[in-house]
Amino acid sequence: MTGHKKIIIIGGGLSGLTSSILLQKAGYEVTLFEKKRYPFHRVCGEYISNEAWPFLESLGIRLAELKPSQITRLSITSQRGRELLTNLSMGGFGLSRYKLDDQLYQHAQRLGVTFLFEKVIDIQFKNGSFEITSENGIHHSTIAIAAYGKRSNLDQKLKRSFFYNRSPYLGVKYHIKTDLPDNLIRLDNFNGGYSGVCKIEDEKFNLCYLSQTVNLKKHEGISDMEEQVLYKNPFLKHLFKNSEFIYKKPEVINEISFEPKTLIEDHLLFCGDSAGMITPLCGNGMAIAFHSAKILSECIINSTQGNNLNRQAMERDYKERWSNEFTLRLTSGRIIQRLFGSPLLAELAVTAMKNLPALNQIIVKKTHGKVF
Ligand SMILES: Cc1cc2nc3c(=O)[nH]c(=O)nc-3n(C[C@H](O)[C@H](O)[C@H](O)COP(=O)(O)OP(=O)(O)OC[C@H]3O[C@@H](n4cnc5c(N)ncnc54)[C@H](O)[C@@H]3O)c2cc1C
Repeated sequence: MTGHKKIIIIGGGLSGLTSSILLQKAGYEVTLFEKKRYPFHRVCGEYISNEAWPFLESLGIRLAELKPSQITRLSITSQRGRELLTNLSMGGFGLSRYKLDDQLYQHAQRLGVTFLFEKVIDIQFKNGSFEITSENGIHHSTIAIAAYGKRSNLDQKLKRSFFYNRSPYLGVKYHIKTDLPDNLIRLDNFNGGYSGVCKIEDEKFNLCYLSQTVNLKKHEGISDMEEQVLYKNPFLKHLFKNSEFIYKKPEVINEISFEPKTLIEDHLLFCGDSAGMITPLCGNGMAIAFHSAKILSECIINSTQGNNLNRQAMERDYKERWSNEFTLRLTSGRIIQRLFGSPLLAELAVTAMKNLPALNQIIVKKTHGKVF
């Protein structure tokens, strides 16, 4: 195998696993570093826009066999107890990351991707190739993909500017058993955040919320914050009080940043959340992770001819295609997010969307992309 056919991917979430499958299938020799062992839970709302369904099937994942829920209706509630109910024209499906990431991992492994369950601690580009340092040694490759998610030790090492701005959000996730319609995703607003609930596989529901960190600082832990802040929305209070919580403790992450990020730094190619994260309200981070991995893999494949890699053309092509596809969506996500989290704005948004069905369909459309 010649040098340029060796690719190292750092991070085995959706974008890393997808890139590994596409590139291994195209004849590259792929090594993927992941610091955790599959299967594992992640903080995520686990609602996937239907735009990703055909692509996942084309990768070789038999989605229907995993029995995801099919989601066709959206409800948005405000702290004062108003509710907007609408159809989701494209819709989506609910499936746990525990199951989805594990399926992709097993598929990649069958195709011959090498998995190293080690944390990467440094990445450097020297003399035309990458030197990747993990906990257990040093590895080399001509191409390296950074698919390590929204925030990692590596962002600090690489001195990425967003890392130094404090991010005001934390995310909390539960799996619960509850009594809600199977085809509904409900978004409940509260002061400083919003929560989503939807059905996933095996009669379970995902309950996941994003809150400003200040809410937690003002209260004594997660449950106290939930009682003092989230329960002010009667829909959320009812949900928390009338559900069976499957985990003893929630999954929690903090320092979530939606700021723009760089796509390529010193020839390192960023993909998925590490290239830019969409606000979860727009329900599309996972579809973007798959889609950006597809675009990046195509750019790499198209720029490799025989033994030659045209790195300049590959990078130019990736920047152009990524920007055409995602810049506007990420920007609208940030704007829509501002409507929520403030009780007054959320109240106004729910009222306006209730009274103007055309407006709510425009907003819903903005949160879903096209089949890719
Ligand atoms: C609260 C919340 C709710 C969300 N809800 C939804 C939703 O309902 N629908 C939706 O579509 N999207 C949602 N998202 C977004 C979605 O989760 C992400 O967009 C998606 O997971 C991005 O995939 P990724 O592969 O880029 O990163 P990730 O899935 O985060 O994977 C990154 C991987 O890199 C590994 N890693 C990190 N650093 C290192 C290192 N140094 N060495 C080795 N491995 C490393 C990590 O362990 C991880 O496995 C939500 C996000 C949040 C925060």
